[in-house]
Amino acid sequence: MTRLAGKLAGKIALVTGAGSMTSSMGNGGMGNGKATAIRLARDGAAICALDLNLEAAEETCTLIRAEGGTAHAVAADVTREDEVIAAIAKCLETFGRIDILQNNVGILRTGGAMDSTVEDWDLMVHVNMKAVFLPTKHALPHFVERGAGVITNISSIAGLRYLGTPYIGYNATKGSIISFTRNLAAEVAPHGIRANAILPGFVDTPMAREVTIQKSDTPDAIDWDALDQQRAARIPLGRVGTPWDVANAAAFLASDDASYITGTEITVDGGVSCRV
Ligand code: NAP
Repeated sequence: MTRLAGKLAGKIALVTGAGSMTSSMGNGGMGNGKATAIRLARDGAAICALDLNLEAAEETCTLIRAEGGTAHAVAADVTREDEVIAAIAKCLETFGRIDILQNNVGILRTGGAMDSTVEDWDLMVHVNMKAVFLPTKHALPHFVERGAGVITNISSIAGLRYLGTPYIGYNATKGSIISFTRNLAAEVAPHGIRANAILPGFVDTPMAREVTIQKSDTPDAIDWDALDQQRAARIPLGRVGTPWDVANAAAFLASDDASYITGTEITVDGGVSCRV
């Protein structure tokens, strides 16, 4: 088994949503989970890359192995308890241990309180909340037994406030992930387990592009560079975020450099949430 040297050398990380849609979307098909899996591997962790789509998870593993890292792909739907249990068992069977759980899966449907459908509301609550609850619930016995573990949940700055577009179901679930993480951190701290949340701002990922495509009457004519510049103008640091910005924060939280950090949030948004 090849491992890279680094701050996470010898650690095992389970990253959910670690695949990403194909590169046909123009940004290399790089999502937050995929970049995080690659980044944690660069720091020396062996990766269990979980995704709904096995092919997408395999692609992430291929990229990790090409850099000399170690990775194993697992297909699972994080909203299905049986599949989460099986995925964790597979990760333990493959690597013998899990040290880091990165709960990255999340979905977005647009709409405000008046125009959101009940189906979209239920889907976001179902996916976004179970995506943090189920892997956590089933990784915890293992973490408690070992008296150690790190859980990082991906929320969003949309969980803090309205950002100018009505995404009420998404924002409500992302706000709930902050509350979930704080409660979890207090509950599991006596077992030596840390839990934190990352709140990304505007990040160029397949999911973000998909939302833009869905909202456009002329999706084939979207000028991604022009859109990028418009968005960048709203961001104090002057650029849209990349999945690597999120991955870098995840690598920090997973490392011993963050050993006294639990129950909190790291905002990764180029300063957007500082502006009213
Ligand atoms: P993404 O590119 O769509 O990546 C998410 C991955 O999760 C995809 O590979 C997706 O597979 C997979 N997935 C979806 N449902 C799943 C399920 N039930 N079980 C297992 N895997 C599943 O999205 P992203 O933009 O990187 O978002 C990742 C996280 O960052 C989300 O929690 C999102 O809310 C959060 N976030 C994103 C932004 C942003 O601007 N992009 C901002 C703030 C927060 P498929 O492709 O097959 O569906």
